[in-house]
Amino acid sequence: MQSLSLLDIAPTLAEFFGIPLTSRVLPVEQILKFAHTRNPQVVVLVVIDSLDYQVYSDFADELAVLHELAERNDGLLFECETVSNHTTPAIASILTGLEPESHGIITSEDVGKSKVNSILEILDDAGKPTAVVLETAGTKPLAGRISYVFPVDDREDIIEYDELIKTHTISVLKKHEEVRFVFSHLRAIDRFAHRGWDLRVAARVTNENMSAIAKAVGERNGMLVICGDHEAHLKEREESQGKATVPLIVCCP
Ligand SMILES: [Zn+2]
Repeated sequence: MQSLSLLDIAPTLAEFFGIPLTSRVLPVEQILKFAHTRNPQVVVLVVIDSLDYQVYSDFADELAVLHELAERNDGLLFECETVSNHTTPAIASILTGLEPESHGIITSEDVGKSKVNSILEILDDAGKPTAVVLETAGTKPLAGRISYVFPVDDREDIIEYDELIKTHTISVLKKHEEVRFVFSHLRAIDRFAHRGWDLRVAARVTNENMSAIAKAVGERNGMLVICGDHEAHLKEREESQGKATVPLIVCCP
């Protein structure tokens, strides 16, 4: 299995869509070949918060849909080095291909202040309509910059939160045929990890949501890209000494 970093995702998607990006990271040829061969009508990128490689492996039964997507129909699975321990800078790196020190988006206060455009704005500017399904605060800088913004308010009931993320993601795919790129962010695993709750429950819920999203992507002849953002913050687990890794799955469900 080829080892990548989260910085590889944006440059690869940019190359597939034929748009320019500031990142100097080279696209991943294996993913490009996969994408060009299938010529998907839409690409859906789902970041699963705190899905690190160990969680992906330890909860393989609960996350069976993810494992199937990585294996079925020549799906691709990579182990990616992370760029941060925190969600905001990690997601900004996933969407720009830049290290956190380059994009400068470290806390939620920085969101919207960075002068660096992500693939979301660049794609939309290039006439390829883009949609995001995100926590309300994260969507604010994107309002008016991209075609479709679906904010979901943060809440204590994270299962209900993820349910809304899933529902909006599927409805974009069904209602807006012109959309070429959708970005969504599921958070149940992260919340359960932080609270020390049973991760099997969050993994099963995530699995069900991804199953429904994958079905909708398949119905649109789309390509689904799934990755984690950073190492899970688990109380019983020692901070890893080396760089943490997260799975990256590329598939056409
Ligand atoms: Zn996170």
